[in-house]
Amino acid sequence: MASLPTKIALKFEKPTVEAKPSQVRSILFALILGMVGALLNCFPVELAYSISLVIGNLAFILAAAYLRPALTLLCAVICVSPLFIIWGHPFGFLTFGLEALFVSYMRSRGWYLPTADFIYWLLIGMPLTAALIWLNEPDAQGYLLFSLFKQSINAIFYTSLAVIILLIFGDKLNLCVKSQQPVFVKNLKQYLHYIFWIMSAFFVVGVSLYLSRNLNEIQEQQFEDKLDISSQYVSRIIENYVDEHKKAIAQIANKLSLVGPTDYDESLSKTHALYPGFLTMLIANRDAALVTSSPRSLMDNLPKSGFTISDRSYFVQAFYHQSLYTSPVFLGRGFGSDPIIAISAPIYAKNSTTPIGIVEGSLNLNMFDQVNRYAVNDRQVEVVLTDENDNVIYAESGLALTKLAKFNASFEHVKLQHKFIMIDTHGANMKRYLYRKVTLNNGWKVLVLIEHGQFLQSIERQYLTIFMSLSLIFVFVLLLANQFAHLLNRPLAFALKELAKDDNKVGYKAIPYDAPTEFVSLYEELQQSKATLLKHQLVLEEKVAKRTKELHKANKALVELAHKDSLTGLYNRRYLESKFSELQAVLSRNDAAMVVAMLDLDHFKKLNDQYGHLVGDNCLTYVGDLMKRKFDRRSDIVARFGGEEFIIAAQHDENNGVLGKLEELREEIAQYCFSFDGEQSVSITMSIGVVVTEAKLSDNIDAWIKLADEQLYQAKNNGRNQLSVKRLI
Ligand code: GH3
Ligand code: MG
Ligand code: MG
Repeated sequence: MASLPTKIALKFEKPTVEAKPSQVRSILFALILGMVGALLNCFPVELAYSISLVIGNLAFILAAAYLRPALTLLCAVICVSPLFIIWGHPFGFLTFGLEALFVSYMRSRGWYLPTADFIYWLLIGMPLTAALIWLNEPDAQGYLLFSLFKQSINAIFYTSLAVIILLIFGDKLNLCVKSQQPVFVKNLKQYLHYIFWIMSAFFVVGVSLYLSRNLNEIQEQQFEDKLDISSQYVSRIIENYVDEHKKAIAQIANKLSLVGPTDYDESLSKTHALYPGFLTMLIANRDAALVTSSPRSLMDNLPKSGFTISDRSYFVQAFYHQSLYTSPVFLGRGFGSDPIIAISAPIYAKNSTTPIGIVEGSLNLNMFDQVNRYAVNDRQVEVVLTDENDNVIYAESGLALTKLAKFNASFEHVKLQHKFIMIDTHGANMKRYLYRKVTLNNGWKVLVLIEHGQFLQSIERQYLTIFMSLSLIFVFVLLLANQFAHLLNRPLAFALKELAKDDNKVGYKAIPYDAPTEFVSLYEELQQSKATLLKHQLVLEEKVAKRTKELHKANKALVELAHKDSLTGLYNRRYLESKFSELQAVLSRNDAAMVVAMLDLDHFKKLNDQYGHLVGDNCLTYVGDLMKRKFDRRSDIVARFGGEEFIIAAQHDENNGVLGKLEELREEIAQYCFSFDGEQSVSITMSIGVVVTEAKLSDNIDAWIKLADEQLYQAKNNGRNQLSVKRLI
């Protein structure tokens, strides 16, 4: 017992902790796939303005088909690294990392990759992306739906691509990698659904994205055209606006040079009424003192001590340089705080070239608000107007730009990117605009903007359509796979049921459904095979029956052989023992008596020595046959006990029948002469020891033999060739 624990300990050796070669291979596989994915992710497929398709993630979906979640995650992290650099935020690690974990885990639970991925994006990916955008990218909130659909469609695309790669190269990959994932056990319906879904998802997404890319290119061109047209149009309008008002000032200066100062008031108000773009208009005399203004109320608000404009450039330039002057943009001083330009021209005395004053109009640049709306008549386009020093003259209120502040240089919240200009519109939110910049004749610049979101909105609708189509296709494909599997299964099930029938005397029925020709010929082949099989079975059954019979016979002979002595054909000593206990039991139950005799040939050794063993054997055979003939009752036991000794056991009868037969036996043997060599003959005698008593005496044969042997001894001692009987009843 002490050695037992050692044995157990030997049986259950501790497993070695070294990494198995297959594990090293799996890690290597994850790393290689990760790097291939990362390389693909370095070159996203651009679909439209800043919208690109990520393909490299197919690598970690492929990994999920073979590897457990931990290694799939490793692969995903490597894949996503370039996206972290391109996108500038680490959210990809979270959403795609979780995607890798989820898909790999669900694959280990027997889910299909595309189903797992679809469910992931529906239940986790999309809500998570929404939350991340909501919390971390306020400027992208406007495109939330777009981002979600784009991400999901992108994921369905690369998953389908991965599964198609698996379908085509799966066998080759299986040779290189030992899968850690369980084998798929699919029924026909699932198999069809799987294939249909992959094919339709891949082609729907692929074709949709291809078409939408073309559509987007057209749309992109439309946006570009709109920018071109709008910028040209707005530029023209603005130039015309300024030019018109410059002309107006030139005209009124001419008119005022013709009329006397008494008509100044009327002329000025008439012109002002014609050109409401002027905030104010004024006339100053040669001393730079105001003569009149429109509206008149301006004069009333002036200080009583007199108001001079001698320091104003519009006075200096018009009066001293005698030219039509347009000032830089400034915020109105004294007459309001709107961005304005002052346009001024000298007024001459009648028929003189000496200026006697100036006329000035302050042109309201806020009027562009109305001009713009009137001109472009399209609220999608926004306009920024800057002067020659890049100060904002006009910007639509939605842009929240401060007037007359520097646009490019001083606005830290304005950033230029590739095709976009980013403007911080609400203090923190950067909005992205497509833009066109035109420099006007006077050095001003017009910036026409279209918010990128408008462009995305149209693509968002397309992506929503693709997503909805995919969802519909998912259901449709499920139904189709169901129906298709049913159509294929039905004839198969019918054929199998027919073939399984035992009784086919009437023949097999033809498949009553529309079945592919391959099925029909398979059914016919199976019918023939079954017929051949049945024929073989019959032949085989016959053969088996024959063999069984033969075997049975051989077995019987073998049993006989085991029980009988080969020389004499009598029962042997072993069989004697079992037969004896049977007989003794029956007789003692019936209170009967039993005879046990021990028979021994006299001087048999001498016979052997004298005539040879062959003669001895013949003699034994003869004696055996004689005994069998004499004691031929079913209950009689005649056995060769060993050498030339025999035992006879039988039921004792009141007529001493057994004893009589023994005596007859002895006599017959003694009288018989064996002839051999044709001439010589020899005779032999037999001594017999007999015990006759109640069967109950003993159930042990040795006790009986002992008693019989004593009598045999007596017979031998008394001169042989005789019976010695011990009677105990
Ligand atoms: P006794 O009258 O005292 O019985 O003398 P015996 O010679 O018959 O007795 P013994 O026991 O001395 O010799 C038995 C002989 O029987 C010896 C052996 O050679 C012979 N014998 C035993 N089995 C066979 C056999 O199967 N065939 C032949 N030919 N002889 C046998
Ligand atoms: Mg003997
Ligand atoms: Mg003998």
